[in-house]
Amino acid sequence: MNVFVVNCGSSSIKYQLYRATDEAVLAGGLLERIGSNEAELHHDAGGARHDRKVEAPDHTVGLGVILDALVDAEIGVLTCIDEIDAVGHRVVHGGEDIRQSARIDDRILEIIRKNAELAPLHNPANLAGITAAMSALPKTPHVAVFDTAFLATLPPHAYRYAVPRDWYSRYHVRRYGFHGTSHRYVTLRTAELLGLAAEKVNLITVHLGNGCSMTAVAGGKAVDHSMGMTPLEGLVMGTRCGDIDPALIFHLARRAGMSLEELETALNKQSGLLGVSGVSNDMRDCLAAAADGNDDATLAVDIFTYRIARYVGSYFAILPGCDAIVLTGGIGENSPAIRRKICRLLHRLGATLDDKRNEAILGGAEGAITADGADLPVWVVPTNEELMIARDTQAIV
Ligand code: ADP
Repeated sequence: MNVFVVNCGSSSIKYQLYRATDEAVLAGGLLERIGSNEAELHHDAGGARHDRKVEAPDHTVGLGVILDALVDAEIGVLTCIDEIDAVGHRVVHGGEDIRQSARIDDRILEIIRKNAELAPLHNPANLAGITAAMSALPKTPHVAVFDTAFLATLPPHAYRYAVPRDWYSRYHVRRYGFHGTSHRYVTLRTAELLGLAAEKVNLITVHLGNGCSMTAVAGGKAVDHSMGMTPLEGLVMGTRCGDIDPALIFHLARRAGMSLEELETALNKQSGLLGVSGVSNDMRDCLAAAADGNDDATLAVDIFTYRIARYVGSYFAILPGCDAIVLTGGIGENSPAIRRKICRLLHRLGATLDDKRNEAILGGAEGAITADGADLPVWVVPTNEELMIARDTQAIV
């Protein structure tokens, strides 16, 4: 069985083609700048990378370009498109309607459309990809894998905000969380690595990419999460502020005369590592500047790691136990410096770092970075959202 995994953004489509029997990736890639006249396809197949300028005015044409590449005589891996047995789609927001992945039918399409109100940048793009793929592959089953689904098990005391209650009933104001597919993948994988049953494992999973989020997992289920109604809440991120006092918005509106739009842009796109460091939203640049003696970059990194430690502390208080802390995402998987700082802050909880292990785990490797017998093991487990989508799709089909 071949499963085609599609992840549509507003101007890009990421894709992977899996052979389900052995989970081998037959091909994968990225089509970017859809809608401009500079669209580019980066296609990996058979160990080689192929970059091409292509015409992709919209997602429908873009998906056609990708399907053509998959059957291309030179760079393709299939003889015909019918060899795709199922398509798995990443969908960001399922709201309160979705608790697990589902085969796409009219009801699911309506749910994705309805929840676009809560994910205005993502759900419409996801929907565009689904529509394009369903018209190109009308006889093939399509499955939606929702980012919010893993977080649907949060109890009300974790997902409700202490605001007037009709904001929840009338305007759907609550914590939904994001990155759920990543948190679910690393939860299952870590349970396997620890030799524990998935429904028994207690973890704190920490996804550190451009966006950053944490999940408290009890008995294999998410019980709390750092992102909120939107991805702005929680940890410090590349350009997002994470937790702030909401009253600073009123202060800035009054004092600096900033509009709602200006404040929204500033908190989403000009804050986080970029805002504090003044250097970059990229952790590598911040670490390099900090090493060169830039105090603002040092502070940005300090706030970033301190916030993580603070969340770990609060999740310790609410979990029945903690088998491990799991670090993933670009920063978690690749930065020994950040991992060292996090372990140092968690030293009192028993996260005794093994320096050699920490330096050695890079570029997709997995393993513990704490010493054998540490009270609080810290693991690095590279995320694989596409594989999670492929597995769900196979299981449902
Ligand atoms: P996205 O959330 O867009 O998928 P990634 O998971 O790829 O992003 O993570 C991007 C982040 O990972 C960036 O802040 C980048 O600086 C960081 N990163 C990647 N490699 C390293 C590294 N070697 N050291 C520190 N940070 C790294």
